[in-house]
Amino acid sequence: MKNNWSNTKAIKYIKHYEKLGHSKDMALRVYTTRLLGRNPELVLHGGGNTSVKTTVRDVDGKNYKVLCVKGSGWDMAEIEPAGLPAVKLEPLLAFKNKKYLSDEDMVAYQKKNLIDIKSPNPSVETFLHAFLPFKFVDHTHSDAIMNVTNRPNGVKFCKKIFGKKVSIVPYVMPGFGLAKKIQEVYSKNPNINCLILLNHGIFTFADDAKTSYNLMIKYDNNNIFAKILRSEIPCEKIYEDEFVLSFYDVKPQKKIHALVIPKGKYVNLDHFTNDASDEEIVALIKGINTVAKKLGISIDVGGGYRTLSNIGSDGGQEVPHLHFHLFGGEKVGKMIEKND
Ligand code: AMP
Repeated sequence: MKNNWSNTKAIKYIKHYEKLGHSKDMALRVYTTRLLGRNPELVLHGGGNTSVKTTVRDVDGKNYKVLCVKGSGWDMAEIEPAGLPAVKLEPLLAFKNKKYLSDEDMVAYQKKNLIDIKSPNPSVETFLHAFLPFKFVDHTHSDAIMNVTNRPNGVKFCKKIFGKKVSIVPYVMPGFGLAKKIQEVYSKNPNINCLILLNHGIFTFADDAKTSYNLMIKYDNNNIFAKILRSEIPCEKIYEDEFVLSFYDVKPQKKIHALVIPKGKYVNLDHFTNDASDEEIVALIKGINTVAKKLGISIDVGGGYRTLSNIGSDGGQEVPHLHFHLFGGEKVGKMIEKND
């Protein structure tokens, strides 16, 4: 997905909302909420919400820790600070050990703890946002995520394609029960930065607005290798196992030019190293060797080969899904051409 974050725009938002008496936290919350809301791939089915944990001064002159969370009736694409009502955070957190809260009691309690009682009703996912201990929490009903989770083997498939920083959560109706479920999942795995809720959507979280937004749009589901993995476009397959796919490059640079990719949604080697499970990492490295053997270019069966992975813009990466090139079948020459 295209990353629309701009430092210049972020600064503009901060300055604009500062003049109107709002904090930097609120300005950036408005900015990335609009970025998410204006992306049809994320909010096509409507819904989604965001929040920021910050401090506000009430009319009593006291500063309160609050959760500013999207209110009902507001569109993320056009959100303003008024659409992110401030709810006192401590009373919300005081319910962390509560086992059950009816929908009516939840709505009333959330309203009761609003800083400004004239605000719109805070989202039904308010407790969920409060229980995640991060400043920024983003939630969308991403098309791509729905597509992946709404299938018979959704859980199995998700476990395979999302790395160790992501937890998969079974479907629970939005409300206090879902907030409790998320609290349980998070406490078991506090290293995660993303939650995939089956048949519902995705939550990302971080202590800064940009990171949480980046996590949401990290992986472009429409990149060419994602389409190959979903069998939407053909490839000349060489090898496949649970974690790895290998196929010939369409524009071979050497006599033999193969590509080896992980099945998981990893943009590049850095992303993979940080987020993939050990099982996925081992499978990819072994996969390269298996493919080289199959192609008759590995040292034990052939004359050797070169493997290469381009990372990011300086690395010359064109397709934003991690891939290793395998070149062989002839002398592949110097690794980097000399300038003179
Ligand atoms: P990179 O510049 O490292 O991102 O390499 C991307 C590689 O993907 C290039 O060598 C392309 O020729 C190759 N490629 C692009 N589209 C396809 C495709 N549909 N099937 C196989 N290889 C492809």
